[in-house]
Amino acid sequence: MNDATPAVEIRDLHKHFGRLEVLKGISLTARPGDVVAVIGGSGSGKSTMLRCINMLETPSAGEIAIHGEAYAMRPTRDGGLEPADRRQLQRIRAQLGMVFQNFNLWPHRTVLGNVIEVPVQVLGMPRDEAVARARQVLDRVGLAEKEDAYPAHLSGGQQQRCAIARVLAVEPLAMLFDEPTSALDPELVGEVLNVIRDLAAEKRTMILVTHEMGFARDVASHVVYLKDGRIEEQGPPEQIFGDPRSPHLQQFIRSIA
Ligand code: ADP
Ligand code: MG
Repeated sequence: MNDATPAVEIRDLHKHFGRLEVLKGISLTARPGDVVAVIGGSGSGKSTMLRCINMLETPSAGEIAIHGEAYAMRPTRDGGLEPADRRQLQRIRAQLGMVFQNFNLWPHRTVLGNVIEVPVQVLGMPRDEAVARARQVLDRVGLAEKEDAYPAHLSGGQQQRCAIARVLAVEPLAMLFDEPTSALDPELVGEVLNVIRDLAAEKRTMILVTHEMGFARDVASHVVYLKDGRIEEQGPPEQIFGDPRSPHLQQFIRSIA
């Protein structure tokens, strides 16, 4: 393994829900330090693709490798796939931080409790060490004062920053963001985007589904436009936003601007 090993590699990913084919052969590589922005209309398969990367959804066909290690999969009776190695799944998943639209914090744990949960319970980190690291990452996202608060007592922006801290605490190989600001009141969007922007500047690998086109243009190293379960166009942000080729992409950008 070296720096050229992709952090995330997706090869010919297909996903069906019953008869509905939602992903129709997606191939995508994120190298260490890449910030891949995924854009596209509602229902185009963005969340499903992201959720396949950490196996929250099981691919129907195709291969996904995290830092060069492909998930072990086996065929199912209905012609699909399922994870074949639970321990591998848990180990790989623990190295992929996911940030959801609706924060998904554990409501009965404090901010600190949320951040130390995976390091202690899954990664086996001693509690003292996990707490020390949690305080560092909470400081990074501007939540140092809130470690004893419960999620219900935080603003949406604070909850999302806590979710980002929770991901940072595992030193992930890649961070997966699924529309991290879509559920926020407009005045809280900026504080979350600023945190993500700082992480991008540190060259952390991330795959970011977003409707914030200006932000994507600023931080992405690569932009992928999904349309009906396929990558219709991809390229550097200047090309995707400045000189889009596909008429669908041109229309999409106009519709969202
Ligand atoms: P996006 O995130 O781009 O809006 P999604 O990946 O959420 O799109 O959804 C893509 C398509 O898959 C949609 O038609 C959606 O209704 C369908 N879909 C997503 N999840 C499921 C599921 N668990 N069961 C059935 N259909 C689903
Ligand atoms: Mg979605």
